[in-house]
Amino acid sequence: MKTVDIAVIGAGPAGAATAIQAARLGASVVVFDKAAYGRDKVCGDGLTPRAVGALNELKIDMTDAHHIDGLRMIANTTRRELDWPATARFPSHGAVWPRRRLDAALIDAAAEAGAEIVWETEALPVIDGKRVTGVDAGKDRWAAGLVVIATGAPGQVARMVGATKVANEPFGLAIRSYVESPRHADRHLEACLTMKDGNDNSVPGYGWMFPAGDGTVNIGVGALNTMKGFKGLNLNTLIDLYYDQVREEWEIGPYLEKPRAWRLPMSTKRRHGPGWVAIGDAAGLINPMNGEGIDYGLESGMLAADLFVADPSTAPERYDALIGERFDSFLRTGRRFSFLIGHPWILNSGLRLAVGTQAIANITLKVMGNLVDSETPGTAGLVLGAADRVLAVADPILRRTRASG
Ligand SMILES: Cc1cc2nc3c(=O)[nH]c(=O)nc-3n(C[C@H](O)[C@H](O)[C@H](O)COP(=O)(O)OP(=O)(O)OC[C@H]3O[C@@H](n4cnc5c(N)ncnc54)[C@H](O)[C@@H]3O)c2cc1C
Repeated sequence: MKTVDIAVIGAGPAGAATAIQAARLGASVVVFDKAAYGRDKVCGDGLTPRAVGALNELKIDMTDAHHIDGLRMIANTTRRELDWPATARFPSHGAVWPRRRLDAALIDAAAEAGAEIVWETEALPVIDGKRVTGVDAGKDRWAAGLVVIATGAPGQVARMVGATKVANEPFGLAIRSYVESPRHADRHLEACLTMKDGNDNSVPGYGWMFPAGDGTVNIGVGALNTMKGFKGLNLNTLIDLYYDQVREEWEIGPYLEKPRAWRLPMSTKRRHGPGWVAIGDAAGLINPMNGEGIDYGLESGMLAADLFVADPSTAPERYDALIGERFDSFLRTGRRFSFLIGHPWILNSGLRLAVGTQAIANITLKVMGNLVDSETPGTAGLVLGAADRVLAVADPILRRTRASG
């Protein structure tokens, strides 16, 4: 039996953030991943200013990432080129950083800080009564003061500790590939908000072109399960339709790899218990308004480490409470909002309003990106507060009348 302060299962951004922070604060940390070093993750590779802020907090050198100034929103024939908002809290730029390289940079920083990284090893929590006491990994058993579940979209580990998704709460699916384009160094992300599936159903979600600055552009489409016809949705058809739509304007070549899809978890039944916490996707921490999860993984990962180092005995409880304070209301509003935009007529009239003028589109960008600074909330803060209250009242109706049935 080996002993460690923190055992992390999963070496994605969330797990790496815990490992970096905890090891730098002097804790002994081991991280397990079933994949090999240099693994890829199906993702859009987009980093909002919020995510860049989290990477800055972790002191990650971002010279390898492609700098992004803002977002081009497209809704039917309306186009709005928007710069990221200037706030006191977040930097005013984003980035695109292909996950193979971003995740390697993060886990390298964890190793440099002193964490032990064990690749190609599946780890499972050891459960003693109600308490998680360590992990079984390969032939070894590790005792740990805290087990951090950073396993991504819920699977076997989540089931073992009861951190599965909440029935009837929304989730998303998304698919992506890479293409070559002369516009690979564009400084704006592009999102088309008026996507239709092969059966002419409006898709609550968006198609994206995220330029990576290395000759390639990440191309993809995401959809929420609140839409009519979600069960029959073919993501391969959806990305092909989007590919045809952007081909000429971006002068793109063929897919560089077969498009791959993965889940966007947006809820969890539990995210802590005696001896354990769940972070990142494993805790359902994805923004339903834009599909962003990297930032939430980094933030929740850092928080888990800080709380454990401050007081191991209260860390899981305090983690749950503080994550609740920081994210629950915003993410709940986002989930309610996703029921609303599952209805095509609400989606389409809402979009007309949301991108109607440059000023309103700027507010939309700030709200959707969770870039409202609580100290200077401004109009975006007021909009978010009002949406929160109205959607809370409408919640039972939204659930009863969901377009996906
Ligand atoms: C198509 C698509 C596009 C997206 N685009 C964006 C975007 O542009 N921007 C953004 O912010 N977010 C985006 N997301 C969401 C983002 O990819 C996730 O939120 C993010 O990867 C979550 O990080 P994580 O560390 O929680 O989990 P992951 O990155 O999924 O890492 C989990 C790790 O755990 C390992 N693991 C699992 N089980 C075990 C086990 N038992 N033992 C050992 N190892 C295990 C896995 O091998 C994996 O390496 C997108 C998602 C999809 C599907």
